[in-house]
Amino acid sequence: MEKKNLDWANIGFSYIQTDKRYVSNYKNGAWDEGTLTSDAAIMLSECAGVLQYAQTCFEGLKAYTTEDGRIVTFRPDQNAKRMMNSARGLEMPEFPEERFLDAVEKTVAANAAYVPPYGSGATLYIRPYMFGSSPVIGVKPAAEYQFRMFATPVGPYFKGGVRPLTIRVSDFDRAAPNGTGHIKAGLNYAMSLHAIVSAHEEGYDENMYLDPKTRTKVEETGGANFLFVTKDHKIVTPKSSSILPSITRRSLVHVAKEYLGMEVEEREVLLSEVQEFAECGLCGTAAVISPVGKIVDHGKEICFPSGMEKIGPVTQKLYDTLTGIQMGRIEAPEGWLREIPIK
Ligand SMILES: *Cc1c(COP(=O)(O)O)cnc(C)c1O
Repeated sequence: MEKKNLDWANIGFSYIQTDKRYVSNYKNGAWDEGTLTSDAAIMLSECAGVLQYAQTCFEGLKAYTTEDGRIVTFRPDQNAKRMMNSARGLEMPEFPEERFLDAVEKTVAANAAYVPPYGSGATLYIRPYMFGSSPVIGVKPAAEYQFRMFATPVGPYFKGGVRPLTIRVSDFDRAAPNGTGHIKAGLNYAMSLHAIVSAHEEGYDENMYLDPKTRTKVEETGGANFLFVTKDHKIVTPKSSSILPSITRRSLVHVAKEYLGMEVEEREVLLSEVQEFAECGLCGTAAVISPVGKIVDHGKEICFPSGMEKIGPVTQKLYDTLTGIQMGRIEAPEGWLREIPIK
């Protein structure tokens, strides 16, 4: 298989159409067998449930080339399970885990020429999603759905080295107290767009959202969970029923405990205690872990000792260990890497 001739280090994070995508339709209470298609366009009723009432959820994961040349995906079973949970929360049919894993295998194998080579820093991003496709005008769940999965190569997240982020404490909320914060719904992102655009206009990289009920506790950003490091080298990560459970964050917690022998506390984190921490990072599939250098709370600056120039030592260790596992340089826990058979 010959790789596409792309400038892997400079492709950035934008959509590049690849050769094949997977499609399965749900009708009369059942999923069809599913297929790969070359057609990247979707033909939909003007009244489709997704267009009227935003009935859609998604996932995001990556395929990598390991040091020894295999193509692997990272914990896709966790994405499958989380998507089933998202579907239940939006009154959509579950796409079964085994079917999901098969779709990942087929989609990556069919686009193997787009899986960036080892060492390039680039990866193949995989986007599974599902939406209500049949007409809905009175408010109710659609009767028919489409599940799709495409892949698009993405460049290294930190081009030219890691740069610690500056984030602000947001006056907007990303989730209601008993709403959809814990599920990966497109609607959570729609309502975060105004908040992120205004954060960027004011010179911040991201928003820190607080718990919507009391506005005293740290939740997450628009698309990444927080990990804090205490001055005595413990990991602290916020616990809340309205946080989206990041697979990267859960993996980093495992790495901290089992590979680095660190103590981890998953608990409520008050905004007022954040100034005590030594390091702060944002966890998600896109960047694995991005260091935060500064948090601005309505003019009051919280500056982490790790500073604005470089990533903190514990954050660096977590990053190196998890990316080492993903790239096959460090032995992975059982079941974390799923190899894609390439014919
Ligand atoms: C997807 C997502 C994350 C990150 O999850 P990963 O599984 O680590 O990619 C964090 N927060 C929100 C709101 C998300 O949608």
